[in-house]
Amino acid sequence: MSNQEDLEKKKYRNWVRGGLAFKYLKEGIKEFANDVVQEEHKRIIQDVISGRSCNQCEIKNLQPLHTYKKDHAGRKKCPSGKNSCNSLYTNQQRCPVNVCDAIMEDILKNHASTPPSPNWNNTDIQKWCSAPWEIAKCFINAPGYSNKSTADDIDTSGLLHVFINNLSHRTHLSDDDIFVKTLHRRNELFHSPNYEMEDSKLDECIDEIVAILENEKELKARHDAQDAVLKLKQLKQENFIITTHNETEVCRDALASITYKSDELEQKIQNAKVDIDKKQAEATEAVGDEAKKVLRDALGESDNQNETLYERVRQLESERSNTRQRITFLESKIDTLDTINQSHKANSDYIEEKQEL
Ligand SMILES: [Zn+2]
Ligand SMILES: [Zn+2]
Repeated sequence: MSNQEDLEKKKYRNWVRGGLAFKYLKEGIKEFANDVVQEEHKRIIQDVISGRSCNQCEIKNLQPLHTYKKDHAGRKKCPSGKNSCNSLYTNQQRCPVNVCDAIMEDILKNHASTPPSPNWNNTDIQKWCSAPWEIAKCFINAPGYSNKSTADDIDTSGLLHVFINNLSHRTHLSDDDIFVKTLHRRNELFHSPNYEMEDSKLDECIDEIVAILENEKELKARHDAQDAVLKLKQLKQENFIITTHNETEVCRDALASITYKSDELEQKIQNAKVDIDKKQAEATEAVGDEAKKVLRDALGESDNQNETLYERVRQLESERSNTRQRITFLESKIDTLDTINQSHKANSDYIEEKQEL
């Protein structure tokens, strides 16, 4: 084998080890995440809604507790600066028992972004009083978690979001910068076009994950976090052996992550196309150039808005086609690995039978 091939193989093995590091991170934090989410839910039930409950409201027409303010030009504005806040729309409905609106307000207050941007697509509001994860999932920015209901169902990236975006969850940590750093690293790894990772990057990645699991405030004292740290230290050893089973798992995780990404791109393309249609309809409706100009000024838009949107759609479409190629590659890779795994299994079954005889 040439040196070049050796090196490529090594970088690919690093990539698999990186993927395993994130699997161990999930093993080390999922119970902790679950405990924090349950505790937070208890606080909401006791302090925010005093044990009352509701399962009748819908997110899209729920009137929040806060109301809009008017700016100097008389336009309605959400006081926290949200563009698509329910307080801005007419025909919204109050929660009949003052439960869902109070919880919604609490979620907004605890969201770490400015303006707060909970992801309502991931949640089922009718389970807010009974299922703690339905509230926690509002803090996962990415789509695709609406049918997940336990910490076990949620991938490492989702669990990291639950800490990064929730101010109340963050109080259980002594340092949260490293969570953000690790989230970026995971995306970098799973979206790496060549399925490769440099030695130095792998070391940094494992060290950062260990640092998360050894977070002084609460995590460090937990057994599952300590077990994960032991596994990570073994993973760092030069002689660590990667089984085809491990390799299959990492490829499956990467496939899931890239599939999410692809769905997200699909959604963005659809949204941009809807925007283009709306803009064009506006332009056709307006009579004469003068009226168009007035309209554009009112909307604070430039003349080449549509060109920018077309350009954006073009970029997104090319990104999507790359993503699809990688999905196909990973699928065929997983098929091959599954075949190898099955033949290993058949082989070891045969040996076992022979020993029994
Ligand atoms: Zn608002
Ligand atoms: Zn309600």
